[in-house]
Amino acid sequence: MNRGAALARFDERFDVLIIGGGATGLGAAVDAAARGCATALIEAEDFAKATSSRSTKLVHGGVRYLQNGEIHLVREALHERTNLLENAPHVAHDLPFLLPAYRWVDAPYYFAGLKLYDVLAGKSNLPGSRILSPREARKRVPGLSARGLRSAIMYHDGQFDDARLAVALARTAVDRHAAVANYVRAERFLYDGGRVCGVLASDRESGRNFEIRARAVVNATGIFVDDLRAIDDPAAPKLLTHSRGTHIVVPRTALGSSTHALLVPKTRDGRVIFATPWHDSVVIGTTDIKTGNVEIDPRPTAEEVTYILQTINPYLTSALSESDVRAAFAGLRPLVNRRASTTAGLSREHLIDVAPSGLVTVTGGKWTTYRKMAEDVIDVAAKEAGLTHAPSATAHLPLRGAGPDLPPRGDPLRVYGTDGAALRALTAARPDLAGRLDARLPYLAAQVVYAARHEMALTVEDVLARRTRALFLDVEAARASAPLVAKLLAAELGRDATWESEQLRAFGVVAALATPA
Ligand SMILES: Cc1cc2nc3c(=O)[nH]c(=O)nc-3n(C[C@H](O)[C@H](O)[C@H](O)COP(=O)(O)OP(=O)(O)OC[C@H]3O[C@@H](n4cnc5c(N)ncnc54)[C@H](O)[C@@H]3O)c2cc1C
Repeated sequence: MNRGAALARFDERFDVLIIGGGATGLGAAVDAAARGCATALIEAEDFAKATSSRSTKLVHGGVRYLQNGEIHLVREALHERTNLLENAPHVAHDLPFLLPAYRWVDAPYYFAGLKLYDVLAGKSNLPGSRILSPREARKRVPGLSARGLRSAIMYHDGQFDDARLAVALARTAVDRHAAVANYVRAERFLYDGGRVCGVLASDRESGRNFEIRARAVVNATGIFVDDLRAIDDPAAPKLLTHSRGTHIVVPRTALGSSTHALLVPKTRDGRVIFATPWHDSVVIGTTDIKTGNVEIDPRPTAEEVTYILQTINPYLTSALSESDVRAAFAGLRPLVNRRASTTAGLSREHLIDVAPSGLVTVTGGKWTTYRKMAEDVIDVAAKEAGLTHAPSATAHLPLRGAGPDLPPRGDPLRVYGTDGAALRALTAARPDLAGRLDARLPYLAAQVVYAARHEMALTVEDVLARRTRALFLDVEAARASAPLVAKLLAAELGRDATWESEQLRAFGVVAALATPA
């Protein structure tokens, strides 16, 4: 992925221009490019900087949707779970979950629901659900409290690394000749006879403005879709409201170093909460708090952290406290107001809207269904723009890095998949890059250099938050790594000492947001 090469191509005339480089936009770029469309994508910040790096990291049908009887949504998401586990085995994998039951009546109820979940998954290759005795349950999750435990249901779902999947999608799109760049913002739309035909974009690195022209323009800006719609048509009704979801990250000992996740089925506010082992830590969340503040870097609050701790502690052998929290992160959910759209596809969790100008907006859904959303939105965009390309070809398209002989699970280089070989070659050629950034995290100096050369990382934050997940795993270790990351990046990107200091200042601001207010 070469940003300069992408910028140089933006004066071409594209079939499809996608605005937004989160799950939805990147998925759409892959779908369009794999159909043979001339495709461009611009992302105002870094890929997955907004909601798409802040998920619970589950590739799932959504067990709780079953309770609401939303069978078709669950089936569709489970189908996509199977696709993703096959297409991106380096960033997504099977994860066993335990759902503890404390009343005799709960076990058959949960078990029946999870058996239905298995059936809806069809040919998924994941093991079926089963009931465990308290003893078996504690053997699998030693950190699970035995107090009052009657049994537990073990079921399987998927887990992934969201920001790494975003990188894999961006690279897959580029491999299919898409022009893809981060830090390029769509400022306003261009029109031809009242129809949207492109955008005026700004390169946030150089400050330069330029036009990008395309037959179809897709607004995939997640929580920001209404801002773009308002630029196109100030009278456009708002499609979204927003809610904040916070997670905390604690040491893996919280679950007794288990490789299984825990699902708490009923929280105080009638939700579910997950505690999942992830990159040698445990991620616990999430909250669901309505907010009118649509910000790219929402900060978890101390109240949310306390709520998560109070909710999970009764299920653990050793109670967690605030001092166990190594990092916290919050993301905003785009909640779709279906009545606001006249053209919305009503039967899905996601929404596709076509404005009178022809601007196609896609939002809602979840990471798990990004591919289906992409297929649907490119179908609509192709129809709107009269493109005559092949149907979607992504259901079985391996993503960049997928392949045989992957590094084993637990190897920090596994998320690179087959590209891990290039990283190993780098450390062999430059032994000075073989050391860790910080003893508390598995990341190597070589990953910084690789991120700058091949993954379009431009800032210390890009490297520590999304190319590696340091900031999401351990804020203090990420802070301690920042000076070395700045130095290595400066050398790669031809920057000076002033740039390094500015990067450290900017990263300090972001790191402060990863500690609860
Ligand atoms: C707390 C939480 C937990 C979740 N957990 C899960 C989970 O476990 N599993 C799951 O499947 N899903 C989960 N989801 C849902 C999933 O994360 C989202 O559906 C998905 O990330 C949305 O992606 P997106 O691309 O639509 O939006 P975003 O990721 O927000 O991307 C939109 C992008 O558009 C860019 N942009 C905005 N304006 C412009 C502009 N003018 N020009 C260019 N670019 C612009 C932004 O910078 C941003 O990067 C979760 C969501 C939340 C909030």
